[in-house]
Amino acid sequence: MSCYVSHLECSFTGKRFEMDGVRTVSESGKPLLVRYDLERMGSEVSREDIESSSEPGFWRYSSLLPVEREEHRISLGEVMTPLVPIEHSASVLGAEPGRIIVKDESRLPTGSFKARGLALAVSMAKQLGLVHLAVPTNGNAGSALAAYASRAGIRATVLCPDNTPEINLQETMAQGADTHLVNGLIGECGRIISDGSAEVGWFSVSTLREPYRIEGKKTMGIELAEQMGWKLPDVIFYPTGGGTGIIGMWKAFAELRELGWIDCELPRMVAVQSTGCAPMVKAWELGEEFAEYWENAETVASGIRVPAALGDFLILRAVKESGGFAVAVSDDDTLEIQREIGVRDGLLLCPEGAATAAACKNAIELGLISTSDNVVLFNTATGLKYPMPRVTSRVDKDEVDYGLFQP
Ligand SMILES: *Cc1c(COP(=O)(O)O)cnc(C)c1O
Repeated sequence: MSCYVSHLECSFTGKRFEMDGVRTVSESGKPLLVRYDLERMGSEVSREDIESSSEPGFWRYSSLLPVEREEHRISLGEVMTPLVPIEHSASVLGAEPGRIIVKDESRLPTGSFKARGLALAVSMAKQLGLVHLAVPTNGNAGSALAAYASRAGIRATVLCPDNTPEINLQETMAQGADTHLVNGLIGECGRIISDGSAEVGWFSVSTLREPYRIEGKKTMGIELAEQMGWKLPDVIFYPTGGGTGIIGMWKAFAELRELGWIDCELPRMVAVQSTGCAPMVKAWELGEEFAEYWENAETVASGIRVPAALGDFLILRAVKESGGFAVAVSDDDTLEIQREIGVRDGLLLCPEGAATAAACKNAIELGLISTSDNVVLFNTATGLKYPMPRVTSRVDKDEVDYGLFQP
């Protein structure tokens, strides 16, 4: 196994840093990106090598990942997540048949795509000899950290706003993390962690505050390309919170292109947010480079309830460079389309994933994309972690009313 990392780079200034130990952000406080010697890698590894890899999940892309030794890879049985067409719902979205595909990330360990990022962050923590990790989270990042850290024999502390869904708290604790509720928002949980670093000695794996979660999320883009025969869709709708996924995929496409592994047009990247928390959409509409803090953030799609993102300028840059756009959808539209897709196609999306479907529907209505565009929607977690409508119908075993079962 070879590692092709050449250095780390400040995503804002381009300043170069050696990969010689534990790193957080650059001296200007911006995210660090991992850079590879793609020329050497391309001469030693081919697309065919990747395709014939026996690794079922994202570790098959390890030549484009920073983990140096196989023994540091922390794995929980990752899979290549399926591309599921939603044939029956396409008409509801206004698209031509066969044009809408869901990349269903719910099949990953801990039921969300946060597994990709945290698997990499924890593996790198293992490589670097870190013994205690901490994260502020609205839910899925906490359980993914918990699972991978336990697997690695590393201690994990998870701080959650006290409105975090109960199920996320429980799964996090059940997978071995010290789990705490905080009477504040995710930003305040983050502040407690950074203020406590010196005293407690933990290392923060908060979104984009270390360089490796993004490398894990990047594998969504590589995997999509491989699954589509080294081609890409016309448009990608992505539920955007901290933005690691959209930034990571855009980075992946650039790397694949530099390697000559893809030569198609790159997809238009659409950042989807909720009308209850839409800092990126606001910045996009105003043509700003950075986003302002979003006050009183509220949405059922808790994974995208992120009022401020350290990588705001990178999200906006990916959207712009790709010819995409940023849009917000209401919780009502999100829950309505979630129900439609569940009922029509048998696929229970999480609210964040359903938000991408609602955004796609709006985009087709407004003519922002064409009915014949090939679209990929990202379903970032399992719908099973979220509240669902209650079942109210009752059957009396002693006096069955068969009228109840008529269509
Ligand atoms: C974290 C999360 C998101 C947002 O992901 P980013 O890549 O950080 O923007 C979306 N959906 C779900 C379910 C999440 O847990």
